[in-house]
Amino acid sequence: MTQLKCLNQTPTSSHNLVHDLRVALMTQQLQMVFQPKVCARTHQTVGAEVLLRWQHPVEGLIAADRWVSLAETHNLMRPLTVWLVNKVIHYLSHAGEGALPLAINVSPTILDGAFALHILNMVSTAGIPPYLLEIEITESAPVTNMTNLANAVRLLQSKGLKVYLDDFGTGYSTMQYLVNVPADGIKIDKSFVQQAPLIPAARLILRSLIELAREIDVTVVCEGVETLEQLTLVKRLGGQIIQGYLTGRPMTPNAFVKSIPVFTMPLYPAGEPDLYKVQAS
Ligand code: C2E
Ligand code: CA
Ligand code: CA
Repeated sequence: MTQLKCLNQTPTSSHNLVHDLRVALMTQQLQMVFQPKVCARTHQTVGAEVLLRWQHPVEGLIAADRWVSLAETHNLMRPLTVWLVNKVIHYLSHAGEGALPLAINVSPTILDGAFALHILNMVSTAGIPPYLLEIEITESAPVTNMTNLANAVRLLQSKGLKVYLDDFGTGYSTMQYLVNVPADGIKIDKSFVQQAPLIPAARLILRSLIELAREIDVTVVCEGVETLEQLTLVKRLGGQIIQGYLTGRPMTPNAFVKSIPVFTMPLYPAGEPDLYKVQAS
């Protein structure tokens, strides 16, 4: 018994975990959670990002960065993403009127013309309005063919899907993306948002990225907003959409639907507190 317990406590090797991830895809171990995206000006919930959660039967919840890197290196990103797109489209087709757009994460390693067509077919078969499905191109792996990626993005946009560049400012090819891929928006990584109130250089980068987005006329989402201080700063710098623990942690789809009226209320009924003054830098 003791021996068994010890065996169970041994962390699963990555070889086993890859096998387990394949099994998880066919069983009920994968779940989607929604994290609200909120308009910085009105505090209205404007949509959500869909995040995948893997509840391993022995190890418990597996951190996203762990399964993402396994999926990238073992050709599992495509089946995982197809599974998630199916699930999200099924959800949207039953969500009724007033459904808000849901954004899914897609690795640039799988986003080519064939994959874009596959997504579009699923959307049109389900008969949902295409604007309800958004794509966030992640930075979990380098892009192998920027032209193919840009063409796939154009194809998705031509049918009304919005495409965002994720983790902007941190990844393998941030600026190359912006030059070559006609994105509708960028998501500024939480590292800049969280350091901005504390570190002048991070604040300057945040301000520059928001200005850059405004100049090229794309939507800017600021991720990882945890405090009122960060929120106030992001708003003053012109961030349009916020996402973070302050306005909502990732939650079940039901909890998300229930949370919508909460963030349709102003966060500061008595006026915006002057918590943070943006210093000229
Ligand atoms: P991401 O796309 O940048 O997603 C945001 C991550 O930041 C999520 O972590 C979310 O829980 C976390 N987060 C959101 N607000 C806050 C905050 O205020 N503070 C802090 N500290 N964290 C916050 P999560 O779910 O662990 O996902 C990590 C990454 O894994 C994601 O980063 C994304 O790149 C990847 N990922 C998650 N789900 C999927 C998926 O379905 N497909 C793909 N390809 N990648 C996924
Ligand atoms: Ca994302
Ligand atoms: Ca991020």
